[in-house]
Amino acid sequence: MNDPMKNHYDLIIIGAGPGGYCAAIRAAQLGLQAVVIEKDQPGGVCLNWGCIPSKNLIHQADVFHSMQAMEAVGVGVDRSSLDYAAVQANSRQVVKTLTNGVSGLLKKNKVDYLNGTARISGTGEVTVDGKDKLTGKHILVATGSRPMQVPGFECDEQQVLSSTGILAMTALPQSIVILGAGAIGCEFAYVMNSFGVKVTLVEAMDHILPTEDFESCAVLESCLTRDGIDVRARTRALGLKKTAKSVSVSLQDSNGNTEEVLAEKVLVVFGRVPNTEGLGLEEAGVNLDDRGYVSIGDYCQTSAAGIYAIGDITRTPALAHVASKEGEIAVEHMAGHHPEQAVNPDSVPSAIYCEPQVAGFGLREDRAIAEGIAVKKSVFQYPGAGKTIAIGKPEGLVKVLCDPVTDELLGAHIVGHNATELIHELLLAHNSELLPEDIAHTIHAHPTISEAVMEAMRGVNGKPIHA
Ligand SMILES: Cc1cc2nc3c(=O)[nH]c(=O)nc-3n(C[C@H](O)[C@H](O)[C@H](O)COP(=O)(O)OP(=O)(O)OC[C@H]3O[C@@H](n4cnc5c(N)ncnc54)[C@H](O)[C@@H]3O)c2cc1C
Repeated sequence: MNDPMKNHYDLIIIGAGPGGYCAAIRAAQLGLQAVVIEKDQPGGVCLNWGCIPSKNLIHQADVFHSMQAMEAVGVGVDRSSLDYAAVQANSRQVVKTLTNGVSGLLKKNKVDYLNGTARISGTGEVTVDGKDKLTGKHILVATGSRPMQVPGFECDEQQVLSSTGILAMTALPQSIVILGAGAIGCEFAYVMNSFGVKVTLVEAMDHILPTEDFESCAVLESCLTRDGIDVRARTRALGLKKTAKSVSVSLQDSNGNTEEVLAEKVLVVFGRVPNTEGLGLEEAGVNLDDRGYVSIGDYCQTSAAGIYAIGDITRTPALAHVASKEGEIAVEHMAGHHPEQAVNPDSVPSAIYCEPQVAGFGLREDRAIAEGIAVKKSVFQYPGAGKTIAIGKPEGLVKVLCDPVTDELLGAHIVGHNATELIHELLLAHNSELLPEDIAHTIHAHPTISEAVMEAMRGVNGKPIHA
């Protein structure tokens, strides 16, 4: 670090989450000398306390859940012997494998990696841990986000948990109240319930997953309720009271009725806040909005020359795949290439991984109705695709919304088994301006759930065969 030659880089990246580490690899591919500074572990929230451990727990919950089905064919499974500490250990092992993978990729691409806390300390200058100075032609800030702490609902990570706390938990509670039924709340509701925990899932908005298609959410809600989760939409949490062994949550429904619900633990997933404090951003001339997010241009440039920002610290959707794409766009721009325009929010897939899964992109039907946007809609129900019945996953639908004049695909929404994989065929059709016929006339293997996608597209201008 004292060698001045080693302290100068084409690009200094702060944060090694999916935004920062993918940007570093792309920079190396374009011939830029890059360094990544990370104060915690490579992989950021996504690999350590987000996407990866939660998807591993969902996978293990799925396996445990499906054991019940074996009882119907005479295979008795003693599910009381579940060792949740072992489930958790498996999840942390997966995290370790993937974070090691990121370190390996950075090394392979000859990206320097420093462990420490970074701060922008001057034009083109970053200080690590308050002492080591690096200079760079460009700086890319990718410092991510953390759970929002709401007064009255502060997480002690013992009884009142954040998403990080529940991902570190090594013993199952008897019961849990989950406040907030966005993607994270629904996924943990599914995991906990599958492992036998009594779950109450609370959402202030009209339905769970308020930013997803309402029909998809209705299917998910009916499955979660059938599986034993107490789902409370249009219900506000007013406050918490902790005793030594439990937490009492005060709830108010849309008619003003209040109720105290007692649980061993509470998970608070109201949202996240950007990590933009203490980085020297404002001193460097970087504009932040009233909630601390960095304002960016089409190629992730900030208001300060040479400084770019990506991922959860910006107002674009807080998703790992958005952070990674923005990393690529920013680096290509600084390298003088001509990247695509900024991430188009209509082309960003959303994906929620409980069972049934929910996925979608682009125009939603509620928005079309509210704004008077005319659409041609086609819905195909999952049971029409024989595979869904063969594998015991008949709950679901594929909905496509097309322009009534041009047939352009404006939005698509899927709820059901494998929805998060199936959505990409429709997203590719959207991005490539394919017509419904292009997918409807493509022979899809039988039996697959993808046939439901083909049938939904067939329904835009004709009739599906299996409906
Ligand atoms: C429980 C959960 C599940 C999720 N599941 C999904 C999912 O399935 N799919 C999906 O797309 N998204 C998911 N997300 C969201 C996803 O994790 C984030 O959108 C993504 O991690 C954002 O990437 P990022 O690179 O912007 O920041 P982060 O991943 O947050 O990484 C930022 C990094 O910067 C480091 N850092 C911060 N400040 C400094 C500093 N001053 N100096 C040095 N280093 C610093 C941090 O330690 C961190 O490692 C999930 C999130 C959670 C919490």
